[in-house]
Amino acid sequence: MSEAVFSTAARAAGALALEWEASSGVLTLTGDAGAMGLAIAAEAGRLDALGERLAPGDRGALEALSAGRELDVRLRLIGEDRRLRLIRLIGRSEAGVWRGLILPAGLTPEDGLERLDLEAELRAGLEAGAMTAHYQPIVALADRRLAGFEALARWVRPDASVMRADDFMPLAMELGVAGRVGMAVRAAAAADAAAWRALAPDAGSLFVAANATAGEICDPGFADGLIATVEAAALPARAFKLEITETEIMRDPDAAERAMQALKAAGVSLALDDFGTGYSSLARLDRFPFDTVKIDRYFVRAAGADASARAIITSVVRIAHSYGMGVVAEGVETEADADLCQELGCDQAQGFRFAHALSADAAGEAVVSGVAGRFAAPDA
Ligand code: C2E
Ligand code: CA
Ligand code: CA
Repeated sequence: MSEAVFSTAARAAGALALEWEASSGVLTLTGDAGAMGLAIAAEAGRLDALGERLAPGDRGALEALSAGRELDVRLRLIGEDRRLRLIRLIGRSEAGVWRGLILPAGLTPEDGLERLDLEAELRAGLEAGAMTAHYQPIVALADRRLAGFEALARWVRPDASVMRADDFMPLAMELGVAGRVGMAVRAAAAADAAAWRALAPDAGSLFVAANATAGEICDPGFADGLIATVEAAALPARAFKLEITETEIMRDPDAAERAMQALKAAGVSLALDDFGTGYSSLARLDRFPFDTVKIDRYFVRAAGADASARAIITSVVRIAHSYGMGVVAEGVETEADADLCQELGCDQAQGFRFAHALSADAAGEAVVSGVAGRFAAPDA
């Protein structure tokens, strides 16, 4: 298509024509960028970082771009209002010169620059191995001994601050890199757990649990990949527990079941995470081979004051035990919570009453001192 045709089409569509020479990597807008709120974007017109500017769903389109085919991607740029602006960029190249159109395609979060910086930092962090696992102890309620740990993703930022999973996993999911985070965490968890087993005579019974998203579990290679990770760490499969939420399973129950059966057959343990936050009943989840149910911290928090929350915990415990599953209470913050969960029949507990997530070294110290009762009640 000639430039003239593009310009005419651009005007007709209320869009901007764009021109971009592949060798210089400079994007030139021919038209009133300000009218589209794109003045800042026009200033920052270099396209070296195009990959980072692509909308998450369009990352694959970069290949088409470098192959010199036609282009149809959504690009994120900062507008004059500092919000992230989604624009659609369509075009094709002729002898190294790209010509196309920019169409407005919507707005996303404010403070767009900060957001783009954070995304770039997250991607760089993944490359640099800044994604680590911290370990929150899980304690047997009967004797308050350490039973295992849950590995939680932690992002060690360049300024050495540590960001919790809740503060960056949503972004990682949006960028399609949650699987890479999870893989790093599970590999670290398997290796660290294998090392802890040698630290104390009774550490051989400890388990390590880690999380995965629905997208990961439904990937056909997921189960084999995880089994290989656990084997490579020389960790017995039963000492590794995969946590999955019911909401994630229900996105594609058949694929989830296939993965879970394969993991189960290899000896990997399975925990149903955040139970009670979705809409399933335990009976409906009967087809999935769980060893453990984790009761969401919402119920634990409510249980002190609310008889119906206590009744729910009691019935989850009864059904779980009838299926031969263990029950973990999440979000146990006080000794009273721990006592109540124990009374209601929960087997294990996890929460700030016992410990926050610990670095791998601190977790190793907890293994040495904790298996023998570091988490005992103050008056025990
Ligand atoms: P989760 O699996 O339910 O993990 C427990 C979360 O509750 C952790 O937050 C933990 O720090 C927090 N927590 C633990 N004890 C208490 C307590 O007593 N009170 C309260 N209020 N909170 C407590 P974190 O580390 O921010 O993780 C948040 C969520 O991020 C996790 O929820 C999990 O769903 C997800 N996540 C963490 N690591 C990974 C990962 O490697 N892969 C995937 N896919 N998701 C992960
Ligand atoms: Ca979990
Ligand atoms: Ca949970």
